[in-house]
Amino acid sequence: MYGYEWTEENGIFRLTINAKIQKEIRPVFHEELDFFGMDQYWDYPKDTTAPLLWAEGVRRYVLNGVCVAEAQGGGFYTKPTIKRLTEERLKLVPIDTDRLYEVNRQIMLSLEQKAVQFIQTQYEHYLPLGFSFVCAFSGGKDSLVLLDLMTKALAPKDYYVVFSNTGMELSDTLKTFVDAQKHWPGVRFKEAKCHMDMEESWNEFGPPASKLRWCCSVRKSVPTLMLLSELTGKDTKAVVFDGVRAEESLRRSKYTEVGEGVKNIQQVNCHAILKWSSAEIFVYALKKNVLLNNAYRHGIYRVGCKVCPMSAKWQDSLISFNYPDEVKSQLRMLEDMTLFAKGKIDKKYIEDGGWQARAGGKILKQGENRVSEEITATSIVFRIKNARQNWNSVLPIWGIPVDDDGKRITVKTKHGNFEMNYREENGQQIVSISPFFQLDRFDISTLRSIANKTAYCVGCKACTPQCPTGAYQIIDGKIVIRANRCVHCYNCCTYTDKGCMVAKSLFVRGENMENPDKYRNFGFRQSFYSHFVDTGVDCFDLPDQDKVLGKDQYKALKQWVAESGILKIETKGSKKVVLPELTVLGNKLINIGVYNPFGWAVMWANLAYNSIVVNAFCLNIGVGETFNKDDIVGILKYDNATACDHAANSLLSTFRDSPIGSSLMQGIQLDKDYYRAGWEYPHAVALLYALYLYAEHTGRKSFTFSELVNAHSNPDAKGISPADIYGIDVKKFREDVQGLVISFPKHIRVSFVANLDNIILEDYSSDDIIDLAEE
Ligand code: SF4
Ligand code: SF4
Repeated sequence: MYGYEWTEENGIFRLTINAKIQKEIRPVFHEELDFFGMDQYWDYPKDTTAPLLWAEGVRRYVLNGVCVAEAQGGGFYTKPTIKRLTEERLKLVPIDTDRLYEVNRQIMLSLEQKAVQFIQTQYEHYLPLGFSFVCAFSGGKDSLVLLDLMTKALAPKDYYVVFSNTGMELSDTLKTFVDAQKHWPGVRFKEAKCHMDMEESWNEFGPPASKLRWCCSVRKSVPTLMLLSELTGKDTKAVVFDGVRAEESLRRSKYTEVGEGVKNIQQVNCHAILKWSSAEIFVYALKKNVLLNNAYRHGIYRVGCKVCPMSAKWQDSLISFNYPDEVKSQLRMLEDMTLFAKGKIDKKYIEDGGWQARAGGKILKQGENRVSEEITATSIVFRIKNARQNWNSVLPIWGIPVDDDGKRITVKTKHGNFEMNYREENGQQIVSISPFFQLDRFDISTLRSIANKTAYCVGCKACTPQCPTGAYQIIDGKIVIRANRCVHCYNCCTYTDKGCMVAKSLFVRGENMENPDKYRNFGFRQSFYSHFVDTGVDCFDLPDQDKVLGKDQYKALKQWVAESGILKIETKGSKKVVLPELTVLGNKLINIGVYNPFGWAVMWANLAYNSIVVNAFCLNIGVGETFNKDDIVGILKYDNATACDHAANSLLSTFRDSPIGSSLMQGIQLDKDYYRAGWEYPHAVALLYALYLYAEHTGRKSFTFSELVNAHSNPDAKGISPADIYGIDVKKFREDVQGLVISFPKHIRVSFVANLDNIILEDYSSDDIIDLAEE
């Protein structure tokens, strides 16, 4: 990927390794300028297809290296405006795209050659392994360039070009697909389409969101894989060449050029133009007469779905104003969602991208928890209401029913035979499995997935390609497991949270959440806490001349320290009142001071229980995830957007301004985003402390490892796993727990009963555990 520098020639830049500019760039055509009425201020020809100037970073219009105008604002309902940065009446002339190529010929030839060689190398490597080859086609610039390269690398019979028509494409994209077939005659073009229509899938799943992108699987990759399976007439083992580029996102920048089984176990993804920049793509596309989707002429810089949870306001507004009839039905569904959630259509919420941060079904009329789970000492009981499938049809994923009288079923699984009772009552399917202690955490997790599939599966077929043997089928909307083919690998259960994408999208966590706005936008800053530690509880009643914080800052600090377990809280009716009195824990923490991460870890564990925003964060933002303010707002189930906004600001400030962000690695700032790396080397006593907190909150000193780490999936769970509190991978956490048993044999034991780990804590309180840190 080269940067570029401007030359003296009109609109011509030079790609060079030493260039300072490495921004995303796009050509600007007269249609975009007309849209903004720029012909009032500038002179430019309207009878040319050539670009007239460039836009850097999407909104900055650049003429020969000088920014001459900037677009501002915009959204689904608001047209952006252009701010001119020069009063001069500019005279724009078409950019000579042949000359642009000539100036960059050597670099472009080398890029082209490398990409062509890469495609050929992958073809030669995977062909003898029985793979088929596909060029993914979206109708965007990257896929057009990729296709052009494919035609140079391989013979037309060697691959298919598969256009994944999501049903949410712009009319100009559909036209590009038709044009491409004429442009590259002989190439085998195919179109993959989801069997559900767009509105049906939006109704079943709810609108997609940035963390609920069911649409990418259901409407794009699955139909593509199924089509491929039909085309090749064998198991779908495919090499998919796609136009993914590193420049497009932080996540994509971490991709390698070849990814085996990343998207699907049967699929190898090859990113032939991964390292190309947008500048290089356009130099190639404009010169080589690769068809350019008309949408680019309107200023749309990424061609994709019309209404997409990943798109920016600029994109939303240009699509909405240039293709108003095409976005109508999806906008109406978003409006209906706000009508249900807020009692009125909230266009601002839609325009500001609030819908993109949805994290579950709370704001959907179809959102509900259909599975409840009860764990007793001897059994686990699932109650499934409004089920879309029958439990017994899905059960063969776990094991083969060897004895079934309709009520009592014996199932032969990988781990032995299990008994369960099945009955239907008041429209619910009720399944009780006992003895419970024979089940290990994998069994329980598989059973939960089966319960979710039974409750929610609408037959979207996303699970089908996950199955390596073809055992998982959807026939007429119903799950059919071919028991003789199922090898109980559980891929169909583990590839998505909860075992079903509909379940993930409709599940409602934390109903009736309290107002999370407790800190007036202020985070739990180390400097605030330091002031508290220096002055103690008197801190909140200092005479004016001794105060070092503002009134609202003191209020926020008081709330943070109270929720961290340092100050006593008294409940008076429905109100919680913070008392100016240290708890036992508070006295101990003050002695630990403000610089020791252990103290912050203990406070964070208490905040996970007592602070609404920290609790939502721990339970919803996974290890290794990047997140931003909108994501935090999206996981708060409170109906006042401003309150959620304030709470999110406070949490992000906590990450920036205290050791919780970078030392405990809960929120490492990356420009506008944050990264939850998780605590890499957790303090053993902090882990033990969090386990004792779990015991105190659940009222039990003995619990299974499985119950602990799955608490976040159980809406009725009262405790939080230390793995969720500190962001620790479950496998690593298991090792950590075993380490605790060795280090603190008087405080924790693990007993193994029939493959099940029981964690047993002794007769201490969480406050006692703090003293172990000093020993
Ligand atoms: S169980 Fe699988 S196929 Fe069925 S709706 Fe859920 S994700 Fe789709
Ligand atoms: S993915 Fe594995 S467990 Fe699921 S149906 Fe296929 S073989 Fe069975």
